[in-house]
Amino acid sequence: GKKVLIVYAHQEPKSFNGSLLKIAVEELTKQGCSVTVSDLYAMQFEPRATRNDIVGRLHNSEAFNYGVETWEAYKRGALSKDLVEEQKKVQEADLLIFQFPLFWFNMPAILKGWMDRVLVQGFAYDLSKAYDGGLLQGKLSLFSFTTGGSQEMYSNEGIGGDIRYVLWPMQHGIMHFCGVKVLEPHICYAPENVSDEKRKEMLTAWTQRLKTLWKEEPIDCSPEWYFK
Ligand code: FAD
Ligand code: ZN
Repeated sequence: GKKVLIVYAHQEPKSFNGSLLKIAVEELTKQGCSVTVSDLYAMQFEPRATRNDIVGRLHNSEAFNYGVETWEAYKRGALSKDLVEEQKKVQEADLLIFQFPLFWFNMPAILKGWMDRVLVQGFAYDLSKAYDGGLLQGKLSLFSFTTGGSQEMYSNEGIGGDIRYVLWPMQHGIMHFCGVKVLEPHICYAPENVSDEKRKEMLTAWTQRLKTLWKEEPIDCSPEWYFK
């Protein structure tokens, strides 16, 4: 079976995001996939990129450079234990699913911190090994998130602009940069403001999508997909 890592960022298991997570774990497990969840708030995952991410002496203790230090630490096996554990989960996964509520047109800080700290140079990308040449080639990713705003607000004519503008840094700037292919995002608009019936429909739609997920083709993740 395929291996799936779900990186989940919501504080409350009873939330709509919690329900989406539960569905994904159940459905993918039913398919015979082995599913691992990184429940970031429950783990009290450290989002800050600091000196503490390097075990032992620094490459340059005169002036701290996080990118250089973590790259060097990766090469000599001196990254902190929590990072090594997340990198192992990423390494083993065929598919990365990110499940979260949209915060300020972006992912919650705890999830952004996961990106900042786990996707270290040398592990996820390297000098001239980026985008299609990124080091995490052969993997798929899927951003699954909820919004406060409605679908109309996130249309081309809407006040929020096309939702694809929000996807650009996440899908292209992070996943594609690391060589990971990107599946269509899964967006549940305004779960707080719709009827219970509509919420149930949205949850069913997620289950249905997951049933045929492995047959999907990745998007053509180029600037045109986002801004044409
Ligand atoms: P919840 O409130 O947990 O769920 C909605 C409803 O679904 C609840 O009534 C819950 O009980 C119910 N529910 C849960 N499970 C089930 C189930 N199985 N069946 C039926 N009902 C169920 N929004 C934007 O659009 N753009 C932004 O830039 C933005 N920035 C934000 C910044 C911050 C700091 C915060 C806090 C919010 C922001 N929001 C923004 C809003 C945010 O995206 C939404 O509040 C969030 O996506 C809603 O998801 P939830 O899982 O928290 O919903
Ligand atoms: Zn891209």
